[in-house]
Amino acid sequence: MTRLEVAADDLFGLHNLPYGVYSVPGQEPRLATRYGDYVVDLALLLGDPDDPVLAAPSLNPLLAQGHARWVEVRTAITQALRGDLPEHAVHAVHDLGAVTLHLPVEVADYVDFYASEHHAANLGRLFRPDNPEPLLPNWRHLPVGYHGRSASIVVSGTDIVRPCGQRASDTGPVFGPSTRLDIEAEIGFVVGTGNPMGEPIAVEAAERHLFGVVLFNDWSARDIQAWEYVPLGPNLGKSFASTISPWVVPMLALEAARVPTPVQEPAVLPYLAMQPHPWGLDIDLEVEWNGEVVSRPPYAAMYWSPAQMLAHLTVNGAPTRSGDLFASGTVSGPAKEQRGAFIELTWGGREPVTVAGARRTFLEDGDEVVLRATAPGPDGTRIGFGEARGRITPAKPRS
Ligand code: CA
Repeated sequence: MTRLEVAADDLFGLHNLPYGVYSVPGQEPRLATRYGDYVVDLALLLGDPDDPVLAAPSLNPLLAQGHARWVEVRTAITQALRGDLPEHAVHAVHDLGAVTLHLPVEVADYVDFYASEHHAANLGRLFRPDNPEPLLPNWRHLPVGYHGRSASIVVSGTDIVRPCGQRASDTGPVFGPSTRLDIEAEIGFVVGTGNPMGEPIAVEAAERHLFGVVLFNDWSARDIQAWEYVPLGPNLGKSFASTISPWVVPMLALEAARVPTPVQEPAVLPYLAMQPHPWGLDIDLEVEWNGEVVSRPPYAAMYWSPAQMLAHLTVNGAPTRSGDLFASGTVSGPAKEQRGAFIELTWGGREPVTVAGARRTFLEDGDEVVLRATAPGPDGTRIGFGEARGRITPAKPRS
């Protein structure tokens, strides 16, 4: 009989207990939680090593079981870890450094929103410098978004190959490796239970459909994006890769992190209205570029609530499924050092920043970017989200 000793104020203490998928050499991936720096196999911990849901290679079967079951499983994990580990759990525990972490969710569909007023206004100024109003007329009335590519969502630690594509030049379009490769620091929301086609998720019901939160880096090729995006929006400038953190922090762990969104003015249409007010999350993000923190974007400044994003996503009757993922859009605060994309931080590349002693604008081959975040937990604790890490490797020559 042993007890796992983890400090009460650890970022991965009993108040967090995120979900992930791990493997050890010679074994198939299985569900786990992280407790301190331990990775704990869920099915072994809870007593049925072959449980088809808790020993699954992705969270999707657990997501499909719904909110009441998520509460039940979280309570069971908490109770099992709080005391002495039962005899059957002796093989459940691994050191974090001894396992491989995998994509936690088989991502069904993926939508990316644009929920930061500061980011949308900065991009408006950069992409439409002649327009005195940086926000387009729809922006305060609906959470703007586009459908992305779920197949190119990868787990933290996966190398990112520099994409090739078309970009504009003075003599017409040219093809080649992107020269303006960028990041977007975002939060991703995992949909636990979806909705059938034709039956939208009401905004007040949305939180029972939301399972949890990941860090999300929406790698973006600005030169490809700028040439292709009119009039239908982002496509190849975004669809080559997005990185998520391996741990899904449950919404159930984030109740102390809820904060009202900024005031929404003008009033939103009734299907987006929330009483007494829409809530966001007080998540402090951090962007590290080649070992140096260059930005600290505050998620609390996001204009649109995750519940509003999910309600909007389905209001036309579009179905969602367990494992759908929607991301918030770049998180940027009002201050320069709170901008979540390098195009904003360097103002379109015109104001280089000093990173680890070098003057830099966009990403070079070999650069590494790591997103991290924390949020308030209960009783003065903090919740950790782990990291979303990626390194740029050179473009592949065309064969
Ligand atoms: Ca984005």
